[in-house]
Amino acid sequence: MLQLFENAFRLPDKIAVIDSQGSYTYGDLLRKSAEVASYLLNGKTDLHQAPVAFMVSPGFDYVSVQWGIWRAGGIAVPLCITYPFPSLQYVVEDTDAQTIVYGPEYAEILVPFETTERIRMVEISEVPQAADVKLPEIGLDRGAMILYTSGTTSLPKGVLTTHANIQSQISTLVQAWEWTERDHTLCLLPLHHVHGIINVVSCALWSGATVQFLNPFDAARVFQVFMEGSVNVFMAVPTIYFKLISYIETLDDTGRKSISDCLAKFRLMVSGSAALPVSVMEKWQAISGHYLLERYGMTEIGMAISNPLHGQRRAGYIGMPLPGVDVRICDERDRETQDQPGEIQVKGPSVFKEYWGKPEATSKSFSPDGWFKTGDIAVVEDGYFRILGRDSIDIIKSGGYKISALEIEEILRTHPEVKDCAVVGVPDEEWGELVAAAVIADAGLDLKALNVWMREKMPAYKTPRQYRILSELPRNAMGKVTKNELKKLFQK
Ligand code: ATP
Ligand code: MG
Repeated sequence: MLQLFENAFRLPDKIAVIDSQGSYTYGDLLRKSAEVASYLLNGKTDLHQAPVAFMVSPGFDYVSVQWGIWRAGGIAVPLCITYPFPSLQYVVEDTDAQTIVYGPEYAEILVPFETTERIRMVEISEVPQAADVKLPEIGLDRGAMILYTSGTTSLPKGVLTTHANIQSQISTLVQAWEWTERDHTLCLLPLHHVHGIINVVSCALWSGATVQFLNPFDAARVFQVFMEGSVNVFMAVPTIYFKLISYIETLDDTGRKSISDCLAKFRLMVSGSAALPVSVMEKWQAISGHYLLERYGMTEIGMAISNPLHGQRRAGYIGMPLPGVDVRICDERDRETQDQPGEIQVKGPSVFKEYWGKPEATSKSFSPDGWFKTGDIAVVEDGYFRILGRDSIDIIKSGGYKISALEIEEILRTHPEVKDCAVVGVPDEEWGELVAAAVIADAGLDLKALNVWMREKMPAYKTPRQYRILSELPRNAMGKVTKNELKKLFQK
């Protein structure tokens, strides 16, 4: 039996999940997921790695369906609950899922699938109760999940992981961040990406902890839940911390004080999925007393590099390789480099099996000696990794220089009138690319003065040649800035 379920059988009466409908024990999860599995099996003995798509809101039903698919021997394909129909269709067609399990609130958007005869539509409430369900034995080398990458650089790719991969991704973090059954986490993240489904939900349930769901995001509601006093572990993307800080800034001193006191009792607060601006880390530290633990990972590899649970967490750094994950930094020809910026490459049991249906993309993403090529550029300083950005969009190649967009963004954010920003390279005949910056600021910001200010802070070749003031940055479901869209704005 998968270790995740063994652990659940150990603690049948412990509260596993809290959602808007109520509280559910590990015993409830095991019972309901067995019923889902039995219904999906539909008389068969094993789903034999058939992909099953599901669109269910975060909570008890969600976990029951995911576990149910695994227990029936299928591959879980979570659908993003906020996607428009064409994006859902992309995933369903790309995986060729023949079954879609859904919550009643998504019936309408899924209607077009109902006319597709080969797809079996299962509404979660129609799953009947069942006793003595016989389930297949699931080997670790089986396909378990297809998660789509965030689509930050191009069309999202389906990433197939096995149970062994997932187990390794979970156990690495449980060990490194010392999850125990005494933990209680609040999940605000989407569950069709690694951050939400592995780092938060699966690590909590593996450990016998409690995971509480809140959806959709509402800063006031988040703090209400925090003030109830049970939550002690919290993980989010930088934009969520940014929004929580903005909310706290609207409160009076008494309100802020009670929130500070409450947050100070947390055991662990983590940030990831995109670079954590130093300004956000510092503001959060001032509010909560916590140095956010920043870590780095990907859909394809789970988490690979993390600041330490105990020990120094460095602002602007992602930390060091996690136990059991081999990490190296390489030049363009996959040769390991020392003290030079280069591509992060990763090896180990957490690394995915393949891009679903894309053998060429899969083989291109590995070096000849079998390391996964992340496409992220980093440099190691005093043993801590610092991300310079993605080779394809954040490393701007201008006049023979390689310029890190992330470094320029960090400096821009320290300007008192800049609330947020994103830097991209714009094609230029003479220089190859030129640095361009989109800033979130009041429309009255004097861009000439900003440019003079930037020139005092950094060499001229790094300073932006173009600026645009925007009211918002384009972002995807994970809150990551979609820089390819931004580039178009400058090319107009
Ligand atoms: P796509 O592959 O479709 O372009 P994506 O790479 O954003 O999308 P994910 O797998 O969700 O899809 O995200 C992984 C990427 O997120 C990493 O390759 C890295 O660029 C970025 N990332 C994750 N954590 C951090 C971090 N702490 N700092 C900077 N970047 C990070
Ligand atoms: Mg990627």
